[in-house]
Amino acid sequence: MREEISAGGVVIFGNAILLLRRYNGDWVLPKGKVEKEEALHQAAIREVYEESRARVEVLAYLGEIHYSYRDCWKEEVINKTVHWYLMKAKNMDCIPLKKEGFIEAQFIHMNRAAEFAKYRDERDIIQKAIRQFKQLL
Ligand code: ATP
Repeated sequence: MREEISAGGVVIFGNAILLLRRYNGDWVLPKGKVEKEEALHQAAIREVYEESRARVEVLAYLGEIHYSYRDCWKEEVINKTVHWYLMKAKNMDCIPLKKEGFIEAQFIHMNRAAEFAKYRDERDIIQKAIRQFKQLL
């Protein structure tokens, strides 16, 4: 069993949220592994940029989610924690980074973003981000 820590963002511009589509069709939030001695929020900003080229600033910490999966190559179970940040994009520029496994990057209206997202825990974090964002306005 191995522990893995990632960080990512619910990136908002205007009334839309950035979602990425994987090659298999799943819509997910941008995220990735935290590097050694890297702050969680910096990892989140870096991963958003690496996966979508979106330039962002962090508004707030949203919380963490946990899931487990089996790494088929190494035949081990990974216990994963993902830390999420509410982020504001500087503009709507984004592109899907193919080498990161994405074929589409889109800002989707807040009212519909959660229903696009593949995973229940990401849908919950999107809803939380929308609530917090509205309180900041
Ligand atoms: P990272 O983006 O953190 O580098 P990764 O791309 O290596 O991660 P994950 O996105 O964690 O890997 O996916 C590994 C496995 O976990 C896949 O089988 C995926 O379907 C599943 N998975 C990904 N996100 C979630 C989630 N939010 N909830 C449950 N299972 C998930």
